[in-house]
Amino acid sequence: MAKKIILIAGLVTIIFLSSLAVATAAAEATLASRPPQPQQQPVPLSAEPLRGGVYWVEGGSGANTGFIIGKKEVIVIDAKMTEESAQAMLAEIKKLTPNPVKYIVLTHSDGDHVNGLAGFPQRLTIVAHTNTRKDMEEAFQDPKMSALLPYLPNETFAGERPLNIDGVRVNLLHFGPAHTSGDLVVYLPDQKIAFVGDLAFIGRDPLIHRQKGGTSFGLVQTLQKILALDADTFISGHNDPLTKADIQGLLASIEEKQAKVKALIQQGKSLEEIKSAFGIAEAPVPGGRRWPSLVETIYLELAEKK
Ligand SMILES: [Zn+2]
Repeated sequence: MAKKIILIAGLVTIIFLSSLAVATAAAEATLASRPPQPQQQPVPLSAEPLRGGVYWVEGGSGANTGFIIGKKEVIVIDAKMTEESAQAMLAEIKKLTPNPVKYIVLTHSDGDHVNGLAGFPQRLTIVAHTNTRKDMEEAFQDPKMSALLPYLPNETFAGERPLNIDGVRVNLLHFGPAHTSGDLVVYLPDQKIAFVGDLAFIGRDPLIHRQKGGTSFGLVQTLQKILALDADTFISGHNDPLTKADIQGLLASIEEKQAKVKALIQQGKSLEEIKSAFGIAEAPVPGGRRWPSLVETIYLELAEKK
């Protein structure tokens, strides 16, 4: 009996956690257009060492982040979602090194990756893809987000950028539109680590921001290029560190969905029929925007191609 109760409690926790994941997905999707909002009870933030002076940070508000301790400086990857969480990350860095943070690289423009910028000192070098800066400029027009205006990326580029920051080889790679149109992979060839932002979601459908120029077919190409990197550890915004096998599995699952949607379209099925073939039942979100499932995204992309 006691065992049964524990089992049920476990199940309830799983259900609770998965609905939390859905809520987080919806939140992350709309955050770029909302002011930073402190979460109710964020998990305490912690910095976990990987190798070669590279750390990944979990907890706090917003997506996972990372940092690299160089000889004299620190390079941060993504900025958390709130000022408080950004400052908690800076406090963790201070415990590990006296070196100041000089660079922030942004993997893309979503609020859970960039809204914490307001917690950083000003006049840092903020590096991002040109399209990410464009998305941020748009989001920060909202008067409630004006505190973030001094933090627009001040070093932008459109293609690939190999950098040597403070003795650390940092390759910034953009493989075309995928999660958004400005995704960056931060590839550290010496440590064989790649920070991939939201290009990899494991345990739930990848989210594609069509309104930011993202595409699922682009994501497939990007994941193929990520797999071709000489790396064995992949840090994503919303998972524990991933392996190449995880990325391979994700790629296969997206390709499988694309093939199935394509076949169903060829059979003359409607979007509603295709969604029900995948068992997707979308309840209306009270008062909120609806974020389409990956299946719907794929359908819309294929419909546009015709
Ligand atoms: Zn994102």
